[in-house]
Amino acid sequence: MLKLENVQSGYGNILAVKGISLEVNKGEIITLIGANGAGKSTTLLTISGIVSCRAGRILLHDEEIHTLGTDEIVKRGICQVPEGRHIFPELTVQENLDMGAFMRNDTKQIKADLDYVFSLFPILEERKNQDGGTLSGGEQQMLAVSRALMAQPKLLLLDEPSMGLAPLIIKQIFEIIRKINEESNTTIFLVEQNANQALQIADRGYVIENGKITITGSAESLLNNQDVQKAYLGL
Ligand code: ATP
Repeated sequence: MLKLENVQSGYGNILAVKGISLEVNKGEIITLIGANGAGKSTTLLTISGIVSCRAGRILLHDEEIHTLGTDEIVKRGICQVPEGRHIFPELTVQENLDMGAFMRNDTKQIKADLDYVFSLFPILEERKNQDGGTLSGGEQQMLAVSRALMAQPKLLLLDEPSMGLAPLIIKQIFEIIRKINEESNTTIFLVEQNANQALQIADRGYVIENGKITITGSAESLLNNQDVQKAYLGL
């Protein structure tokens, strides 16, 4: 579905992504794990077209997308939940969700999708008239994921959904990510520092170090890899 071929990108003189190649197949959950500053967010921002691709190619269903603007990339079904959530704090939960669907006009299906996100996260329905900024961190993450789902993504890019959340909430969020993948057949590319949780739900994973992919394999093989265990799983 998505293919990165020797992608390079960065900021000014800094090359943060140094020739990455990876593949995401339809229906998979893929995780990109790595330490602080390894280049995970930059990889996602480059796929979304927010950071420009300086070399290499990004293909969606064999079509080049690295030359397109972010709006075109979103229209093709790629939707990113950014690190730190970035919900609209002064809009209500309902208005945040409406923003996710603003490019759509299929009213009936929008209502069905709204019911679906409320079934995933009942707390959001309870709080639908509350300002986004008054929600807890976990609820804001739920809202950010839900807002992205309202855009009907085919490929969901998640940037560190566990960041700053309590262990119980993290567990809940990861279970729902797996549910979204299974139930709505949404392909998921998940960037995480929390390697253990990410590998528990992923099919395959890539390890990024200093802007380069160093290890790749099935989630199970990465969980059993001694280098991964030492560097990212605290074993
Ligand atoms: P984290 O887990 O901390 O988000 P990351 O793996 O997502 O880390 P990136 O945020 O992609 O890493 O950062 C990769 C490199 O690019 C780092 O050296 C970082 O300092 C640098 N970088 C990131 N954003 C910017 C920016 N806006 N301007 C300049 N350099 C940046």
